[in-house]
Amino acid sequence: MGRIAILSQTVSDQIAAGEVVERPASVVKELVENALDAGATSVSVELEDGGRELILVADDGEGMDREDALLAAERHATSKVRMATDLIGVPTYGFRGEALASIAAVSRFELETAKPNSDTGVRVEIRGGRREAAIDAPRTRGTTVTVRKLFANTPARRKFLRSARSETRASVEAVTLLALTRLDVAFTLRSDGRKLLDAPRVASAAERLAALYGRKLVDQLLPVDHHDGYLSVRGFVQRPADARASGRRAHFFVNGRPFRDPFLVRAAEAGYRATIAPGARPSVFLSIELPGDRVDVNVHPSKHEVRFRDKMIVERAVTEAVRRALQPLAAAAVVEQGGVAIGPHGPTGPGIPTHDAVRTGQAVEGQLISGSLFGDDGSRQQAVGEPQELVQVFQTYIVFATHDGLVIVDQHSAHERILYEQAMRELQGTAAAGQRLLLPLTLDLQADELEAVERHNDLLSRVGFEVEPFGGRSVVVHAVPNPHPRFDARRCLEELIADLAGSRFGGLSNRLERFAATYGCRAAVKAGHILERSEMRELLRRLFACELPPHDVHGRPTIVQLPKRELERRFGRV
Ligand code: ADP
Ligand code: MG
Repeated sequence: MGRIAILSQTVSDQIAAGEVVERPASVVKELVENALDAGATSVSVELEDGGRELILVADDGEGMDREDALLAAERHATSKVRMATDLIGVPTYGFRGEALASIAAVSRFELETAKPNSDTGVRVEIRGGRREAAIDAPRTRGTTVTVRKLFANTPARRKFLRSARSETRASVEAVTLLALTRLDVAFTLRSDGRKLLDAPRVASAAERLAALYGRKLVDQLLPVDHHDGYLSVRGFVQRPADARASGRRAHFFVNGRPFRDPFLVRAAEAGYRATIAPGARPSVFLSIELPGDRVDVNVHPSKHEVRFRDKMIVERAVTEAVRRALQPLAAAAVVEQGGVAIGPHGPTGPGIPTHDAVRTGQAVEGQLISGSLFGDDGSRQQAVGEPQELVQVFQTYIVFATHDGLVIVDQHSAHERILYEQAMRELQGTAAAGQRLLLPLTLDLQADELEAVERHNDLLSRVGFEVEPFGGRSVVVHAVPNPHPRFDARRCLEELIADLAGSRFGGLSNRLERFAATYGCRAAVKAGHILERSEMRELLRRLFACELPPHDVHGRPTIVQLPKRELERRFGRV
């Protein structure tokens, strides 16, 4: 007998199934996508035992007639592509025509479907890839696909499944991502009888995000809306101050489809530079729109990944989009008016949109290929109002009223942000001239400190410290910066040098940023400094002239708002 045999159809189907059907979540994803392609307005998913026992997806889409139902689970049966050239820019989720065949090859598969306005539908049953029955079934429009005993006939694959809980979680994730792309469709998911996901049809992305992730996360999001050349980046990013080290969600969509790309996650994080604590991982939901010929969505069998024609441009746009979302939209106007930017939907400091901006800013119908999930944001902020009376409280905060509420600025954080940005400019561009001292300072340093001064002396001099070795472990300081009148140059320099020598400064990826942040922190006015009115005014003016006023370099807010409406609510006026 020869050694070569042609694989039976069943075996080759099972092998091919491995490509599309890795685990229950991939089945869920394919079936839900089919439902969306069929124009469903409501999709419900049921799981048992993480999908091993049962995966059921029911929709109210256009259904299939008997002939199509019989064809649907045949390999390469698809109603969506007639020619290979169609593959460019196919406006549907599925188009390979192999999902149903693959799933049917590795399960007990049942498809029940009916066209609209027909009182009978058809039920097709397939076991291990072989059709067993096709009988009339009474039902109304739509399709229900039932997948039982997934991988029962492929034990090797079944062995790779994880716990029911983590398989369930993966399915929830798959439906969640699709739910983010289609606001006009209602989604539910039940697992062993428990409802894990319930997303009714909504008009705004913020409402959908709230249904999927909870109101708390939505309240922490800032809208993103950036256009650059042929592409646009829209969506939401988490406020830097709310970013935590764990539990983040980072989701990207291109032309309405979810995809994964670790480089884009990093590009988004780059947009947060110097606004979040090291190790903080902000949540981001970003939808990229570009012409179909600039992206290939067919590189991955289950379409998890895409290939951009120009990756660099996309990455840069994502970074820029995030950076701008964190930036006050009206900083320039604010400076001119000496006022504070207040959003139309409640007072939000410059660049600190509250949840209102997110909640009311979005009124977009979900569309199939849209990324319209993240529609135009109507919450552009306008600079209005002018702080009348500035008050310093607890020798730490500057408080003032605008016509929409109270604004509270942390003087230290604010000054830190100002000095950080100034130092970055000085480190990269024109060095600051320090103020020459009539009586130079002498510092006695530890050996590692002396070494740190030598290593970083170029940076010290750029921000205005002129430091010279003076024999032994002493250095003499001829000039110092003068960031504010009560600046204690000796103390600042000592602290700065100690930081530079300490482990905190070690192993940094970006020496300039770290230095600027350290300098900003050490040189800034402290809590406890009494400020003159003119100083407060100057501090605010310079804060709002910053690129990123609302955040200090550790990711804490510099500005806190107390909306007038909140006061009215608390006093029972509304
Ligand atoms: P693809 O989605 O790539 O076309 P599938 O194997 O997923 O391939 O589906 C095969 C065909 O079966 C689809 O093209 C579609 O015509 C039909 N079909 C599958 N699921 C549904 C559904 N829920 N409602 C209506 N038609 C469906
Ligand atoms: Mg499909």
